[in-house]
Amino acid sequence: MILASRSQIKKARRVVVKVGSSVLMKKSGGFSPVVFKNLARQIDALVRSGKEVVLVSSGAIAAGMQKLKIKKRPQLIRKKQALAALGQTALMHEYEKVFGRLKRKVAQVLLTREDLDDRRRFLNARQAISELLRLKAVPIINENDTVAVEEIQVGDNDNLSALVTNLVEADLLILLTDIDGVYTADPWLNKTARRVPIISNIDKTVHGFAGNTRAAKSTGGMITKLEAAEKAARFGVATVIAKGHGKNILKSILDGKDCGTFVQPKGRK
Ligand code: GLU
Repeated sequence: MILASRSQIKKARRVVVKVGSSVLMKKSGGFSPVVFKNLARQIDALVRSGKEVVLVSSGAIAAGMQKLKIKKRPQLIRKKQALAALGQTALMHEYEKVFGRLKRKVAQVLLTREDLDDRRRFLNARQAISELLRLKAVPIINENDTVAVEEIQVGDNDNLSALVTNLVEADLLILLTDIDGVYTADPWLNKTARRVPIISNIDKTVHGFAGNTRAAKSTGGMITKLEAAEKAARFGVATVIAKGHGKNILKSILDGKDCGTFVQPKGRK
């Protein structure tokens, strides 16, 4: 199903929601319990209403840093791999807790680029995730950072979530971040900056917008979000980039309301 405009978003059945560390973590470090709670409540409501939701969640390395009380993100790859392993359990523990209160089951799926590149592994992963969705569980996906070295990494969860839309044959990709979509300039610095409600083609002008915003500098900033939206568009999947902190952001998006930035899909699936 191709969702060519916001008015068609209502028809989405299978949705990939990606949430970044900037949403999940407090500025002072540590998980934001309110964000986790709201996210779980919203996803649970969507599943109850008959939608299928796959969550792509970052936050493993950030949680690992929190666990070891490290302030600065290390550069050394094996340090990051260890932090991801330490943090992933904490991350899933948090999801178990909030979804558990709603009696919704969650499942951890850790993927590498090789799983997505190899046909047999790709189909195996697709089958397993479909089964989880049939069981009305919420698959929570992250890159398997502990075994993925730089050369073979997807590297950021924005791009990973675009590949996941193809893996699970989703109709819609939602990227939740700390800003309400793509802006014409950095809204923190420039009062004339405007939100771009719809993008039909990710051209030079759009890339220019992304490079200018503060969010561009964080891991998985606006640049990787546009890469992801572009990939999804090529798979025939629409993307919405929106601020993830709102209580009802997922419902607003799925109701076709004018929030964030809607990136139109191209052609057919
Ligand atoms: N997989 C990384 C983590 O869980 C996040 C990558 C990203 O933020 O895009 O820490």
